[in-house]
Amino acid sequence: MTDQPEDWTEPGAHRIAPGIHRIPLPLPLDGLGTVNSYVLEAADGLVVIDPGWYGHRTEVAMTAALRQLGYRLDDIVTCLATHHHWDHYSQAYAWRSTLGCRLLVGREERHSITGYRTDAGRFPNHAPMLANCGAPQLARELAHTPAPESEVGVSFGPPDRWLDHGDRIRLSNGEIEVVSTPGHTRGHVVFHHAGSGLMFSGDHILPHITPSIGFEWAPEAHPLRSYISSLELVRGLPDSVVLPSHGPVTASSHQRIEELLHHHQGRLDEICDEVAAGSATAYEVARALRWTRHNRRLDELPIDHQLSAVTEIHAHLDVLSMLGRVSYVDRSNVRSYALSG
Ligand SMILES: [Zn+2]
Repeated sequence: MTDQPEDWTEPGAHRIAPGIHRIPLPLPLDGLGTVNSYVLEAADGLVVIDPGWYGHRTEVAMTAALRQLGYRLDDIVTCLATHHHWDHYSQAYAWRSTLGCRLLVGREERHSITGYRTDAGRFPNHAPMLANCGAPQLARELAHTPAPESEVGVSFGPPDRWLDHGDRIRLSNGEIEVVSTPGHTRGHVVFHHAGSGLMFSGDHILPHITPSIGFEWAPEAHPLRSYISSLELVRGLPDSVVLPSHGPVTASSHQRIEELLHHHQGRLDEICDEVAAGSATAYEVARALRWTRHNRRLDELPIDHQLSAVTEIHAHLDVLSMLGRVSYVDRSNVRSYALSG
C-alpha cells in the first residue's frame, strides 16, 4: 500500500487507493487509543466507514484530515458502521443530527441497539450467562458499576437503515459489498471492495490483537461459533488487503485469518487442559488462567475485562462441547464441564 506512515496512528489522511483514504482518529480509551476511519468518494459526496467515538477531538481530527483532501465535514453524506461499538458508531450517530448524513449498520446489531438502556447497570443481559458460568457475583457487581465517564452523554440509537449481507454501496471508484461477519458482535459486517482487492475489516480481522467475542449489550448464545464461521466465510473470498479498525494496513486477509484460527485452536487446547486439571465451570477456568501480557489474575482485571474474560471462556467451552471434546451437566443453572470419553 502506498503512503502509509510507519506509525499507523499518525494523524492525517493516508491514501489507500484512488478515492479511498485512511484517517486515524483518537479514542478516549486506555490501551486502545486510535480507531481507523476510512473516507471513500462517491458521486453525491463522501462515504465514511467507522468515524470514531463521539466528541470534539474526533471532529477536530476528521476536519483537519478532510481539509488535506479538499473536503469539509458537511461533504459527508453517508456513514457506514462495521458494528455498534461506540468507537465505531457513536460519532456517526451524532452526525445524523448535526450534518444530516445517513447512517447504516448491520441488521443484527438491532438487538444491542434498540434494547440499550443507561439505567440498568452495566450489561444486565449477561446475568443469566454469568450465573451459568458459576459467577453470579460478577453480575451483581456489574449491576452496581456506573458507566465510565467516556460513555456519559454519548447519544445512541438506531440507524437510518439496516445493512444486509450482499448489499452494495456505489463509490466513484467501483463499489463495496456488505459481508455479514457475526462474532465480535451479532451484526458485525465487513465491506469488500473486490475491484481494488480491499477488505474494510472493522474489528473482525485485526492485525495485532484478537477481537473480543460477544461483548455487547444483548449477546447471542454462541458467539465463538459465529466468529469462527465468519473467519472461514471471509477466507473463502479472494485474498485481500486488510484495512482494520485498529492497527496498520496488512497485506493478506488469508494469512491473518489462518493466524486467528490458529490462536483460537491453541486457546481451545489450553482451556481443555484446564478442564482436565479439574476446573469445572467457566469461572473456574477463567480464574485458573492468567490474563493480558502482564499475566494478571482474573480478579486483578477491571470489572468489564473480567466480564469479557469469562464470556470468552464460556464461548470456547461452548465450541469444545460442540466438537465433542468436553461434556457438561447443568445443576441449579450452573454448568459443569468434564472431558468427554
Ligand atoms: Zn468493537
